[in-house]
Amino acid sequence: MISIRNVSKSYGQVKVLHDIDLEIPQSQVFALIGPSGAGKSTLIRTINALEDIQEGEILIDGVSVHDKKTDINKLRANIGFVFQSFNLYPHLTALENVTIAPVNVKSTNKKEAEEKGKELLASLGLGDKFASYPGQLSGGQQQRVAIARALAMDPKVMLFDEPTSALDPEMVKEVLDAIRKLASTGMTMAVVTHEMGFAKEICNQIVFMAEGKIVEVAEPKEFFSNPKTDRAQDFLAKVL
Ligand code: ATP
Ligand code: MG
Repeated sequence: MISIRNVSKSYGQVKVLHDIDLEIPQSQVFALIGPSGAGKSTLIRTINALEDIQEGEILIDGVSVHDKKTDINKLRANIGFVFQSFNLYPHLTALENVTIAPVNVKSTNKKEAEEKGKELLASLGLGDKFASYPGQLSGGQQQRVAIARALAMDPKVMLFDEPTSALDPEMVKEVLDAIRKLASTGMTMAVVTHEMGFAKEICNQIVFMAEGKIVEVAEPKEFFSNPKTDRAQDFLAKVL
């Protein structure tokens, strides 16, 4: 589970996260939504220490992310992170992209990693793409390879930052379906998304952020039918 406690973050003199408090329990999926510049990416990047924080604490299964004593590589091995841009290694095949971290970071036996990698790729509908290079795959396929790559490390939590916003519309569904499937396995997840239909259908809670603050946290049904704050009402009027 992910505990975010009184977290504040600044870039130089500019505070971009203000006293953020959020608990994402085991096996729950939380959507982070809100206007551009709200701090959604910054917050999700603090969770695996891609960004430092000035105040507060973030714990993953009790391990303090920003504590200097924490082994950050070990911690990151437990956190899958999928970005908007897929960032696959262009010179490696789909399967090699998926196996490289388990083999190099976790010292998993290569054969074992390959078997598991093939299983993962097949489960994401890429059973015939093991030997393809990223340049030979569509955006949706590349993003599913990126998801397989993250899952190959057996993460405890998965973080997504707008996983579908770089995709052509017809490829959005296949990636959202992959995330939906993952949710059904009980993976703990935080997903920054502009896909309101997805947030409504899949996520346990909606976290609405604006101006570096959490403005509202509510169940999707409640949030979308009865937003409490003017800020959320404004936002929904624009996006729905
Ligand atoms: P979007 O929906 O456009 O992706 P967001 O909610 O993800 O927006 P962030 O990218 O987290 O927003 O940005 C929050 C604030 O922090 C913005 O005001 C942004 O300009 C600022 N910011 C983000 N990254 C940096 C950086 N590396 N240096 C300085 N300021 C930054
Ligand atoms: Mg962002």
